[in-house]
Amino acid sequence: MDDEWICGRLGEDEPWMLGAVNPPVFENSLFTFETAGELGEAIRNEDERYVYWRGTNPTVDLAQRKLAALERGERAKCFASGMGAIAATISSLVKAGDHVLVLGAVYGPTTQFLRYLEKFGVTHTHVEDLDGCDSAITASTRLLYFESPSYMAYAVVDIAEVTAWARERGLVTVMDNTWSTPLFQKPLTLGVDLVVHSLSKYIGGHSDLVGGVVIGPSRLIRPLALTEYQLYGAAMSPHDAAKVIKGLRTLPVRMAAHQERGLAVAGFLADHPAVRRVNYPGLPSHPGHAQALRQMSGFSSLFSLELETDSRPVVAAFIDLLRHFRIGVSWGGFESLVNAPALSTEESVRATMGIPIGLVRLSIGLEPAETLIKDLGLALEGASPLA
Ligand SMILES: *Cc1c(COP(=O)(O)O)cnc(C)c1O
Repeated sequence: MDDEWICGRLGEDEPWMLGAVNPPVFENSLFTFETAGELGEAIRNEDERYVYWRGTNPTVDLAQRKLAALERGERAKCFASGMGAIAATISSLVKAGDHVLVLGAVYGPTTQFLRYLEKFGVTHTHVEDLDGCDSAITASTRLLYFESPSYMAYAVVDIAEVTAWARERGLVTVMDNTWSTPLFQKPLTLGVDLVVHSLSKYIGGHSDLVGGVVIGPSRLIRPLALTEYQLYGAAMSPHDAAKVIKGLRTLPVRMAAHQERGLAVAGFLADHPAVRRVNYPGLPSHPGHAQALRQMSGFSSLFSLELETDSRPVVAAFIDLLRHFRIGVSWGGFESLVNAPALSTEESVRATMGIPIGLVRLSIGLEPAETLIKDLGLALEGASPLA
């Protein structure tokens, strides 16, 4: 089973599809049964049987089968958002009194969710590396959570080393693999227990979908599907599942195009005198590049750069001069996007978090690389004194 086939055909040659090239969208909120006994049996196994939309849906199931196969996982559960998946996953693994290790920089709302859990007696510690993990681990530590490449800094974690460390200590590992998509990195094959994704980024790919997924062994997915999925109610809609399936059809070709453009644009910026540095693991000069090549088969096109300036107006001028990058949050769509985290963060918070003023995040879309490079060159020249 190769990934292109999974993205295109897996699960789609079944009789219920009647030969349709796209799966039907099952819009019904409930399913009915011949007998009361059959309904009872279905309710007792609601993670696998179709009873009610908040639990299971055939269109959502097809998306889940493809995502599980792409990650080489046993099962997947799709949610109404990436945060829905992350919150349910973490909640399913901890109880009052437990402690969570967070390795490296992770998505902001994930940290906010861990802070929120403090009111239920779940604590966490942020650490930078395995030495930090060694110092911070306690008898109550249950879970190790991380991203690779890490959020905003795009530092590369040695996934096999981290999962071996965690396994020896009886910790469950959860990794956010949104950056790479399952096409470019398969953390479950490197020992990670559960992988989470925001489907709102490359997998959706058209900036018209918000969704999430968790993938892993049935022994961890089943309880989560029966409890947190049902009770938090962040169920994926069948329409969104149809968008996930549509996004997967073109994911292999889009990711190849994103990678080619990302490398070209990052290479241009790395050589530009107005740019202090480019945080992109695809560049040979990136400190994590060698490790990335050992565990990834490609690079997506989201990265950050630091301008040679500490002036907010100069950063703002640079962004406003860009014609082919739209200004906004999110990433992974067809359209190139730009966002300067320092400009949207209060100064005191920015300083404590250590976000450089000149930090700019780019999501390279599907426009020709030459167009984007020309645009960036002109904006760097125009935003004096960057030139
Ligand atoms: C966007 C994002 C999420 C959250 O996903 P939503 O679909 O927006 O809830 C989680 N992790 C990473 C790395 C993200 O970029």
